[in-house]
Amino acid sequence: MILKRFKAESFRNIKECDISFSPGTNLLYGNNAQGKTNAIEGIYIFARGKSFRAGEDKELKNFEADGFRISIEYEDKNGENSLEYAFFGRERRRKRNGYGIKSVKEMIGSFKAVLFYPDHLGLVKESPEQRRAFLNVAISQCYPFYVNCYSDYKEALENRSCILKRASKGEYIDSAELNSWSYSLAEYASHIYVMRKEYIKKLEYYAEKIMSEISEGKEKLSLIYKSDIKSDTESREAAAYEYRNIFTSETEREKIVGMSLFGPHRDDMEILINGRSARHFASQGQQRSVVLALKLAEGEVNREICGEYPVFLFDDVLSELDEKRKKYVLSGIKERQIIITGCEMDPDINAEKIIEVSLGEFK
Ligand code: ATP
Ligand code: MG
Repeated sequence: MILKRFKAESFRNIKECDISFSPGTNLLYGNNAQGKTNAIEGIYIFARGKSFRAGEDKELKNFEADGFRISIEYEDKNGENSLEYAFFGRERRRKRNGYGIKSVKEMIGSFKAVLFYPDHLGLVKESPEQRRAFLNVAISQCYPFYVNCYSDYKEALENRSCILKRASKGEYIDSAELNSWSYSLAEYASHIYVMRKEYIKKLEYYAEKIMSEISEGKEKLSLIYKSDIKSDTESREAAAYEYRNIFTSETEREKIVGMSLFGPHRDDMEILINGRSARHFASQGQQRSVVLALKLAEGEVNREICGEYPVFLFDDVLSELDEKRKKYVLSGIKERQIIITGCEMDPDINAEKIIEVSLGEFK
């Protein structure tokens, strides 16, 4: 997948831009606070469906504007494509290849990208929520079905939790209604479970190889999917059966606390280095290696499932990596498009295209 062009109007500090990218390595460089991350943020919206750092769209429009418009042109194995997203007043408009699309769910899965951002360096030590978010974004890009399934799951979860909350306050609840939500929840949960299980297995295969290369064979990375399914099954039906049992047998406890205590919204992915928990024991350097391995592996899994590499967006992270890891990234990213940002024109980055960023302008 090759990103050819990114255009923006009144997006963050970018009044107007039209940036063309080369198929290899592209470097966006400039001083702090010039608009490098803003451009990466705009591009990644098309892969993730929403900004990775803004809570709401209105934060994305230029301070002086009523809205913003961003668009990309890219080439995938099927040909040339475009996506556009505009937000004015309260109205959102999305287009794919010039035709309107109704929801963000329809947009995810068309343009694929892997983002590596300094905040991601906390992926190993931070809460399970960060690792779930990583999995959700990565899997959504490979399987559009996951996006729908996850949103249906969240809706069923909310409805079920509402009933449990009422029960915790001593209000009357309809047990048949609670049961019916438990059954729906088990169906959606089982789909999420099998997709996460399969994805983590593939991710581990590549991440283990990459980690071993970075550490010259010293560090073995393993990933363990932590879910409520104890049987370790790979069958969707068996998982649904197990979830149904969990959701219906623990309701008395859930009625006391007033929330759903089980399900994929509480999953985690445990990361081990040489059999020990990376969350508890990994050094700073090891954490960097793990996240780098996970991000590069995300790209490999994406290629395995979708048949081509996604675009790699590396925002400000090369400076966070030591020489050895930086070299590993720069030598290993051939045949892939990569867009790197940094404050300096790093000579180690043999960029095909160098773009200077200054006050929201790209030259
Ligand atoms: P660094 O090297 O420090 O990461 P950067 O070039 O990545 O810098 P950006 O995060 O892209 O910087 O931000 C560039 C500027 O955009 C900042 O000065 C920021 O305050 C400004 N900015 C952020 N949101 C908006 C907005 N909605 N409207 C106008 N300007 C904004
Ligand atoms: Mg930045």
